[in-house]
Amino acid sequence: SYRKGGYHAVRVGDSFSGGRYIAQRKLGWGEFSTVWLAYDTQSSGFVALKIQKSAPQFAQAALHEIEVLSAIANGDQSNSKYVVRLIDHFKHTGPNGQHICMVFEFLGDSLLRLIKHNHYKGLELNKVREICKCVLTGLDYLHGGLGIVHTDLKPENILLLTTINATKDPIRSGMTPILERPEGNPNGGVTMNIIEKKLKQRARRAAARISGRRSSMGGVGGTPKSNRSLDGIDLRCKVVDFGNACWEDKQFAQEIQTRQYRSPEVILQSGYSFSADMWSLACIAFELATGEMMFTPKGGEGFSEDEDHLAMKMELLGKIPRKIAVGGARSKDYFDRHGDLKRIRRLKYGCLDKLLVNKYRFSESDAHEFTEFLSPLLDFEPEKRPTAEQCLQHPWLNFKNQKQTEVKNESGVERVNIGMSKLQIKVGK
Ligand code: ATP
Ligand code: MG
Ligand code: MG
Repeated sequence: SYRKGGYHAVRVGDSFSGGRYIAQRKLGWGEFSTVWLAYDTQSSGFVALKIQKSAPQFAQAALHEIEVLSAIANGDQSNSKYVVRLIDHFKHTGPNGQHICMVFEFLGDSLLRLIKHNHYKGLELNKVREICKCVLTGLDYLHGGLGIVHTDLKPENILLLTTINATKDPIRSGMTPILERPEGNPNGGVTMNIIEKKLKQRARRAAARISGRRSSMGGVGGTPKSNRSLDGIDLRCKVVDFGNACWEDKQFAQEIQTRQYRSPEVILQSGYSFSADMWSLACIAFELATGEMMFTPKGGEGFSEDEDHLAMKMELLGKIPRKIAVGGARSKDYFDRHGDLKRIRRLKYGCLDKLLVNKYRFSESDAHEFTEFLSPLLDFEPEKRPTAEQCLQHPWLNFKNQKQTEVKNESGVERVNIGMSKLQIKVGK
């Protein structure tokens, strides 16, 4: 993809926008761009520099993203709404063409990284709460404040404010900025990446050798599968990636959202609004708490991925009301006139709180409370889902881990701190 119309090859020390930004290291990439950690010589701080591919359709997409991001930044002068901030944008001409560049505040690892780091084990519910509060604050601002639908909420598109590994964080690690291309190193761009990859491979092999040795000495081999400590990691996060976002009253695509986070109204093509993001949020909260995606549909013999997806939703959440099932432009492809799936007949109904207890080993009370929070967001009727603003008021978000806060007294009453107020819970003998 490093050819005409594609990515721009960057070398460490390359400068952008008349010398203002200097590339430090690659942070990530997507279908549209590469993203680099850069040093901003004007503010003397680190930023994320997104360099878009140069072909016209990518430039078009970047201009749209900048329009949305500018509205977001203009409406949030205090930068406190948990949505990524666009700092600057400009054009950069290179051998592959002209690339639109966006400069963002530097953020840390994605929630997907966090889930992997935790070995797909599920985070403590208090951490899930913290994350949900940030995302909901961001969504309340986007939906209520600006009329923007994100349309692609998923763990990859929510970034922590810090990196999990402190040595990767330029600020916490006290990194001194590189101000020019390293002397005597003609390797850059793509070549540099190959060298980096080889070094990483070597480190991985060395690590594997060490753990192998340990296991042959009778210890536990491989990486420990216990929850890795997340102590000291501030789990605040921000919503990113507005490449697919739209205004509620100015939509571009019929098919939105990444498969696993896609709402029923989008599958049925019944029209969508802010509530489609709320469905995705529920899927993300479930994934954070259990370590597994809520729905992973697959097409099979005689039925499509969409039909499998609809069947899975009904098996977990109950039957889709007939009115909703038959109400979309694509309803006839999947449902008969009674509102039953045409090609998947026998559904195995279950329910969310039982799943949390039986499969994910939640306590009955944790499962019950979490389900009370999630279920309204997973209403098949989009209009019935709570808004982000309403959701922020939900008591579940303000429960504290009872182990940390319970105080037993002699009359058998526990006091559990719930936010600012105190709630009394009777304890049975
Ligand atoms: P996609 O194919 O998902 O649309 P894209 O080309 O639009 O990708 P982004 O998703 O915006 O690019 O960014 C690619 C990656 O760069 C992210 O997944 C993340 O790892 C990293 N990244 C993006 N923005 C930041 C930021 N502000 N701070 C730190 N890292 C970032
Ligand atoms: Mg992305
Ligand atoms: Mg994108």
